[in-house]
Amino acid sequence: MSTATAEFELAEPMMLQWLTALGVDVEFVRGEGNTLYFVGPDGAEVPVLDYAGGYGSLILGHNHPGIVGAAREFLDAGTPVLAQASRQTAASRVATALNTVLRREFGVDEPYFAVFSNSGAESIEVALKHAEFDRVLKVKALADGITEHLGAARAALADGTAVLPDAVAAALGLAPGSGIDAVAAEVGGRVAALAARPSLFITLAGGFHGKLVGSVQLTHNPAFRTPFATMAPQARFVPLDRLDALDEVIAQERATVPDLVVDDGVVTVVERDFPVFSAFVLEAIQGEGGIRVVDRAAADRIKAACAAVDCPVVVDEIQSGMGRTGAFFAGSLIGLVPDYVTLAKGLGGGIAKAAVTLVRGGRYRPEFELVHSSTFAKDTFSSTLALTTLELLEADGGAAYRRAADLGERLTALFTALRADFPDVVKDVRGKGLMLGLEFHDQSASAAPSIAQAALTDTFGYAVAGYLFRVHRIRTFPTASATTTLRFEPSVLLTDAEIARLDTALRALAAVLRDQDEEAFTAG
Ligand code: PMP
Repeated sequence: MSTATAEFELAEPMMLQWLTALGVDVEFVRGEGNTLYFVGPDGAEVPVLDYAGGYGSLILGHNHPGIVGAAREFLDAGTPVLAQASRQTAASRVATALNTVLRREFGVDEPYFAVFSNSGAESIEVALKHAEFDRVLKVKALADGITEHLGAARAALADGTAVLPDAVAAALGLAPGSGIDAVAAEVGGRVAALAARPSLFITLAGGFHGKLVGSVQLTHNPAFRTPFATMAPQARFVPLDRLDALDEVIAQERATVPDLVVDDGVVTVVERDFPVFSAFVLEAIQGEGGIRVVDRAAADRIKAACAAVDCPVVVDEIQSGMGRTGAFFAGSLIGLVPDYVTLAKGLGGGIAKAAVTLVRGGRYRPEFELVHSSTFAKDTFSSTLALTTLELLEADGGAAYRRAADLGERLTALFTALRADFPDVVKDVRGKGLMLGLEFHDQSASAAPSIAQAALTDTFGYAVAGYLFRVHRIRTFPTASATTTLRFEPSVLLTDAEIARLDTALRALAAVLRDQDEEAFTAG
């Protein structure tokens, strides 16, 4: 192989250039708790305090000893990792452990069946596919029933035990006197037309559900979504702060199909609801959309609207789940009982890649297991680490969840005090537990050219992240779709000293922004 290849960056070169421009293009060589280390020019390790937390994947920090120990033990025992199509007890135990949590937090009795996958977006794709599979099977059952009823009506008309009144033709918009053949053609045509419609998902504006072909169509950010719009059915977006729009979408999209029944010797038309809605998909707390909390009133409203049209609710807990918000499922804090719930990020304990889609028993279609699979899903290594992670989180009566809530309150108090002291800089503080966002005011009028330029080019949060990294050795990033909001998603191991360091750094940052200090902002 040519050695020249090594001189070029072939793995996402543009991304590396961009990290270099921000001054954050270091290679981390070690990670422990909330700290990452890179090797400085003098050969010594430089610690960086990590508030990005693997974009929400590190509820137990980098290389938690309990998870590393489980990984070592697993490998030392020579346990096979990839044995698809065999009994996989570790995955099964993860499913059981998650059901225990679901029962406790939501008070549900029904089991949730688990379909494992490899990434957050993939667990959403599984939910979308399963929901559509379920809908298609319901459409088929409805269509089969209508065909059967048509046959019964035909037979009753043929043997003279029923009559076809003109009201049937009128109800279907047919000419008076239309016979059963015309009626059957019209009914069949309407069913076929609705069955041919693309699947319909409803989701929240500002949401983020991944970047695969299907899931990206539910990720609101147009830059991520629109180049791929022709590849998959599109979702209808409703704003979280104007849920009336949900009722409007449902009213616009709802559809019925005519069915024929023979009632007392008379053929009549009965309109049946057609299952048009594949699912409503939402995050319990919007992460990449700027850390926006869904409240109980919104959850109730969504649940009621979906229940009225039998539309399943998919709750994406990929970022908000795994105990980060003070409960294992953030949705449990607002009564958002899921039909489907997805987990990924933290499930593999910060070491393995693991994801799961849990489907409520009443909606689960076992046949799905025959049409969906992945070579890597359910592998023993990630399942074993997921199980260890769940054990660690559930230990001591859920001490980790209480700690996340407590640390969250302390960080929120810190951010709130910062906003009080720098009202022209800090716009808002949002989130729950260890899923927090700090939104900045627009700085495009700053006298400091670098600050103004970043604000004007929609890269302000990244410029601020660069400053925090270079000057204070603190790592965080803005949320993906709301780049004036910085994310704070550290682990439950966060210490007083680490909180104090953040306070010092943010106060210095706020002063630099307030003072429009070009030199300080571009230092380091
Ligand atoms: N859903 C949510 C709520 C997320 O935050 C993310 C990742 N930021 C995803 C889905 C996609 O997960 P992944 O990057 O593992 O595909």
